[in-house]
Formats: sequence, C-alpha cells, structure tokens
Amino acid sequence: MAGQIRRVAGLEYELVRKKVKNLNLRVRRDGTVAVSVPMRVSADQADAFVAQRMGWVIGAKQQVARAARKQQDCPPPSKEECLALFEPISQKVYPAFAGVLGGQPPQLQVRDMTSRWGVCNMEKKRITLASRLALQPRAAVEYVIVHEYCHFVHPNHQKEFWALVEQFLPDWKARRAMLRHG
Ligand SMILES: [Zn+2]
Repeated sequence: MAGQIRRVAGLEYELVRKKVKNLNLRVRRDGTVAVSVPMRVSADQADAFVAQRMGWVIGAKQQVARAARKQQDCPPPSKEECLALFEPISQKVYPAFAGVLGGQPPQLQVRDMTSRWGVCNMEKKRITLASRLALQPRAAVEYVIVHEYCHFVHPNHQKEFWALVEQFLPDWKARRAMLRHG
C-alpha cells in the first residue's frame, strides 16, 4: 500500500491510512519510518504523533542500522564448515531412523535460507539445513536435525509427530526456544 511521504522536524516518514483502530509507528528493516493511522486521523495529527515519539524513532533507527551492519560483517558460515558440524549430529540420530530410511542415511544439504532452519524432503530422503543454524546453540541444532528426521516418519506437525520428537528429546521445547531469529 503506497502512502504519503511526510516530513516532521527533518524526519521523513510514510503515512498510510488504513482500517486500524490506533496509530501505529514503526521503523522498517531498511530504516524507513512508517505510520499507519485510522482513516479519520488528519495528517497534522499524524505529524504530532510522530513528533512526540521522536526519541523512540531515533533509538529504533539506530538499532536497525546496527543490526544491518552486523549482518554485513558476519556472512553465513561456509557450507563445508556447516556440514562438518551437522554431519556428526546427523550420524548419531540416523540409526534410530535406519528402518524407515531403508538403511540409507539421508543426504544432508546446506543452504543460505533465512525463513526456515530446516526442510525435510521425504521422497528424496534429503534434509536441507540453513547455514545460519550453525551459529545457534548446539542443543538447538540437535533439535532441528531430530525434527527433520522425524518428518521421515510423520510428514506433518501432528500430535504423533511431536510425540516422536519428544521421545528423542524430552526437552525439545526448551531447545526450540533457544533458536534466535534474525
Ligand atoms: Zn517440521
């Protein structure tokens, strides 16, 4: 939705009128500022709203810029490094799934994914893991690998699936909570 670009005390922001109840101010990942307001709110009222929150906006913009710099400084680890970490964990998990996999360990693949930590391809007997998973705590890495293996038995996230995960990792919830996004 294209909004109107406005300026308040040197700060540029995008004003978007929407069917919302409250005024909502946010700083996007690219550092731009957007304000969505209910239809009835005037542009002057939106300007005043932003002006009142200038301190917050400055802080949020700084935070976004810092996060962007950090990502640049720190490219994802190489696929070889990732496999060196993931393979031994996979080899430990594999024996319990040898039956369902027909005695053939799954193919491990690493990709620079950002939206998911892992993907299981049942037909191709392949597990794809995000390279950034290598930066997560080991307990969480183990959880993701066990999770993907369990998909060889249960394709969906049904009760039976989680029961199987729990059989291997009784503390899977705590491990999953360690996964940090971003
Ligand atoms: Zn899953």
